[in-house]
Amino acid sequence: MTTKQKAVFLDRDGVINHDHAYVHKIEDFEFIDGVFDACRDFIAKGYILIVVTNQSGIGRGYYDEAQFNRLTEWMKAQFIEQQCPITEVYFCPHHPKKALPEYLQDCDCRKPNPGMLQQGIDAFDIDVSQSVMIGDKVSDIQAARAAGVKTAILVNSGQAFSEQDAAEADQVCVSIKETVAFVS
Ligand SMILES: [Mg+2]
Repeated sequence: MTTKQKAVFLDRDGVINHDHAYVHKIEDFEFIDGVFDACRDFIAKGYILIVVTNQSGIGRGYYDEAQFNRLTEWMKAQFIEQQCPITEVYFCPHHPKKALPEYLQDCDCRKPNPGMLQQGIDAFDIDVSQSVMIGDKVSDIQAARAAGVKTAILVNSGQAFSEQDAAEADQVCVSIKETVAFVS
């Protein structure tokens, strides 16, 4: 008997909201059509929602952690209001080459590394064999693979990707709205 939970890991920019590059203000945060419907569906199917987001804009000095946290609290409140609460948000502020000294590092959390997913897996006792990652970049897919997350879906609602990148994913969907068909 297992008591483990299953999770849908969500990238943020390009999956939850339109990727206008380094989004850090509420007024620039534009939800992608159908995101709440999809997330309500995942929760109804027994998944918890965990956001894993590279935020090198912090490391680069474009915005700070306080600004990121304010936006995150607002985003989480929208998900609560829409009856699909996010269980946790993990972010990576680092960059290996272009960052302020305190953020300049080759970390294990920046995707394609699995550090953020692993944190969620450990904290919430996640069964990776029943879990899903939804991202808009091949680095999201690679992070899922590295963490052992079973299903990795690439969506076309964010960054452009190559056919070679698409081949690494289990599915390619127009946006999060269409992924519900592949999450059982
Ligand atoms: Mg993204």
